[in-house]
Amino acid sequence: MFSCIGYAATAPDQPLAPFSFERRDPTPEDVEIDILYCGVCHSDLHMARNEWGVSTYPVVPGHEIVGRVKRVGSDVTRFKAGDLVGVGCMVDSCRTCSSCKEGLEQFCEAGMIGTYNAPDKHTGGMTYGGYSKSVVVYEGFVLKIADTLDPAAAAPLLCAGITTYSPLRHWKVGPGKKVGIVGLGGLGHMGLKFAHAFGAQVALFTTSPSKAEDAKRLGADTVIISTNADEMKAHAGSFDFILDCVSAPHDINAYIALLKRDGTIVSVGVPEKPFQVVTMGLVLGRRSFAGSLIGGIPETQEMLDFCAEHGITSDVEVIKIDEINTAYERMLKSDVKYRFAIDMASLAA
Ligand code: NAP
Ligand code: ZN
Ligand code: ZN
Repeated sequence: MFSCIGYAATAPDQPLAPFSFERRDPTPEDVEIDILYCGVCHSDLHMARNEWGVSTYPVVPGHEIVGRVKRVGSDVTRFKAGDLVGVGCMVDSCRTCSSCKEGLEQFCEAGMIGTYNAPDKHTGGMTYGGYSKSVVVYEGFVLKIADTLDPAAAAPLLCAGITTYSPLRHWKVGPGKKVGIVGLGGLGHMGLKFAHAFGAQVALFTTSPSKAEDAKRLGADTVIISTNADEMKAHAGSFDFILDCVSAPHDINAYIALLKRDGTIVSVGVPEKPFQVVTMGLVLGRRSFAGSLIGGIPETQEMLDFCAEHGITSDVEVIKIDEINTAYERMLKSDVKYRFAIDMASLAA
């Protein structure tokens, strides 16, 4: 074991504060990573404040990790010291169930092991995430990051990137499809970039009129102010696919009404309260309402390679770790352009 420092929440109503803990020494199949940057996902905030009712304290959040390999275990073949690598929302799974065998480890039948707040078979405690100096991860869950990508701007790809890339691919978003992205935050801005890169006609739904110009720069052909009923009505029955990236409770039925016959709305946002769905909205038009969870390891690598090829990264505001509590408050006010990334050099050794 070796000692590591990070930032943790110790209770739902407490700000994040410095925290020391132990990491395991790498086993033969592990990679030890010095963390350069960690993106700030709204899930970190939900979890730090126990908004999903599953948090075990202390919580060291952070699952958008980019760093350099420090050392590798004796059986590790794919990585060597100095490589630029990433770790997303998972650090392990059962590796044997049908979902794992298909590379859909996020749906592991035994439950995937989250990067934080999950039982850690190595320490007997809970996993601690990327708001920290270093992390030790089984090589099967470590991703390769192209050196051509800016490491701070690449960090959010590990969650916001794959969480939007995966459903857009699964529901075959591409040329000839009219696609909506709801909410211009961390996930939403990556959704815009990918939907545009895949060749779809893209609309952004936002509650923030001030984000309209940015939305067009990020890939939206149209911007719809979702609080304006007339603007919403003008698009009734016209969308093939809508990706809802909103973190707070809102009326999903207003979006279901905008789908074509056989259209699909997918929520990747997980607000703390359940949605109320008007069944008639789905029945009339054979529409579907679905969910999607991050993406498997092979697809995450595919997404990172796609980003390297197409020069896609996140628009980040780099912060020091002692600014994290202010960043959370700003995220709650939808005041982030469009992802915070923590510079881990700001965490004193
Ligand atoms: P974020 O950066 O805070 O963005 C959320 C956006 O939602 C805001 O920027 C805002 O966009 C919109 N919004 C906020 N409050 C709203 C309200 N009351 N009504 C309508 N719109 C509102 O959050 P994020 O990191 O992208 O995460 C979004 C959600 O996805 C969170 O619930 C998170 O836990 C979840 N998530 C899920 C997965 C998964 O695998 N399914 C993975 C990662 C995150 P506008 O200003 O444009 O309206
Ligand atoms: Zn996340
Ligand atoms: Zn499994």
